[in-house]
Amino acid sequence: MKRFACGDVIAGCSWTAQVGDETELMSMIADHVAKAHGITTIDDEILAVVREHIQLVS
Ligand SMILES: [Zn+2]
Repeated sequence: MKRFACGDVIAGCSWTAQVGDETELMSMIADHVAKAHGITTIDDEILAVVREHIQLVS
């Protein structure tokens, strides 16, 4: 499983996602940051930061 905690990147946010597939995880993250943080464009810089904070969990 791959896990992402939004609060690791955006202070104060308690949203987390945990799914098996990274593509699905990225799509959930894109959806969340658009709705919750008004970030509608995921550029390479944001993508790199997000990838750095994806944790592998069993
Ligand atoms: Zn968030």
